[in-house]
Amino acid sequence: METNISKRLLDVADYIPYGVKLLDVGSDHAYLPIFLVEQDLITSAIAGEVAKGPYNSALTNVTESGLSDSVEVRLADGLAAFEPEDGIGAISVCGMGGYLITEILTAGLDKLTAGQRLILQPNNREDDVRSWLSANGFAIIAEKVMIENHKFYEIIVAEAGEQKLTAAEVRFGPCLLRGKSETFLRKWQRELAKLEVALTQVPSANQADRKALVQRIDAIKEAISYES
Ligand code: SAM
Repeated sequence: METNISKRLLDVADYIPYGVKLLDVGSDHAYLPIFLVEQDLITSAIAGEVAKGPYNSALTNVTESGLSDSVEVRLADGLAAFEPEDGIGAISVCGMGGYLITEILTAGLDKLTAGQRLILQPNNREDDVRSWLSANGFAIIAEKVMIENHKFYEIIVAEAGEQKLTAAEVRFGPCLLRGKSETFLRKWQRELAKLEVALTQVPSANQADRKALVQRIDAIKEAISYES
């Protein structure tokens, strides 16, 4: 079966370690596990879904792709989709809000083990995800920002480790700040332009709001010109 995998999920796939068993949390169509198994990039996967409709879509796609032996679809909330004996080596949580991702990780924190890699792709509130990782014994080992359908997406990859992050690293990403890719610069230049327009619309009497906006603008300017 031809999977309809998006460029965003293809970019996520790049960070799944070769030959692991993957847990994909929130796997509404199971596109990522199907793609990885079809390409022989992983041995097997669990596609976890909490909602019945998306679970059924995942089940249908896995059955139609003939991969039922290697991709197991489980109806489960977050990390409840796996047990230690499943031997999960990587966990992807993609396409949902950053805060929800941290809630899922917190609820299953006692199940995470040192050998597991986390591949997270929040649709927003990336700073929440980074703060959570730093506070819970994970170090960010790679990051990517990509654009699809005019929207920017960040991918955050972490493994067990100690990492203290500065406020700028939490907001912009430690690896993204250092790499400053063209897409990173485009993302923040777009945000900067929006904030500068917003600033012209805040009355000068409203000093508190102006100050907060100026601080955000200055932080972006600093990040864009950041030298490691
Ligand atoms: N991961 C896919 C992607 O990136 O394209 C699907 C993203 S879809 C927008 C988010 C999916 O996560 C939904 O199908 C939703 O039901 C599922 N979801 C949300 N919270 C979940 C949880 N706690 N456990 C498992 N799945 C969850």
